[in-house]
Amino acid sequence: MGVISSLKGLFYPPKCVICGNILPFDTKTSFCPDCAAELSKAIGRKCPDCGLYSNACKCVLPVLRAEGFLFHVKLFGYNANHRSSPANRLVYRMKSSQKSALYSSLADMLAPSLSAEIAAQCAALSLAPLITFVPRSRDSVSKYGFDQAELLAKALAKKLSIPFAAAVKRKHLSDAQMKLLTASGRFSAGADAFEPIRGCGAGCGVVLIIVDDVLTSGASAYWTAKAASLLGVRHFAAVSVAQTY
Ligand SMILES: [Zn+2]
Ligand SMILES: [Zn+2]
Repeated sequence: MGVISSLKGLFYPPKCVICGNILPFDTKTSFCPDCAAELSKAIGRKCPDCGLYSNACKCVLPVLRAEGFLFHVKLFGYNANHRSSPANRLVYRMKSSQKSALYSSLADMLAPSLSAEIAAQCAALSLAPLITFVPRSRDSVSKYGFDQAELLAKALAKKLSIPFAAAVKRKHLSDAQMKLLTASGRFSAGADAFEPIRGCGAGCGVVLIIVDDVLTSGASAYWTAKAASLLGVRHFAAVSVAQTY
């Protein structure tokens, strides 16, 4: 550790990105020991379909499988009712924090499984991976000033040295249209929400890896893929920090 970073550590000691407690001296992760232990318990949940721990499970929701999704890499199961669980606190933290330590820790945790899938599946199809994200609504971007899925997608792209591109954007909708869309809560409501970004580099030669913070019904990933398919993309993959159960 250099003199400057030692001094910086003295005046601004690194804090756990989940609970905010000061981290033990010279710690290598961004989580305190308590939060790290809680997180590994959350990861310890097994997928009912494949029987693997959630951070090893690659199962794809049937609705996404049918659309050309090859795999879905995730860290843990998420239950919105367990408010104080570490997984929920981490997901909530992502909405309000753009700390690079948070996103690079999450990228570290997702990277091994993701790079193994990319090596196997993209090579088998002779396609190149391209990382993108499910864009937030304009309201939530303007509220927090950043897009957490975009930050995670960029951290993963950097970690794995894979190209990143914004492939899809939210359509400009009138307030009335937007209200109808969000109030309906239907899976099909997303059909009018996204449009492709021409010239972004996504096309028939890529597997488009769609990053989101939480995957629930799969609707956002599905409609992001649908919009990207207008650019010629036929194969997709999903990455999320959590998946609801
Ligand atoms: Zn903590
Ligand atoms: Zn599974």
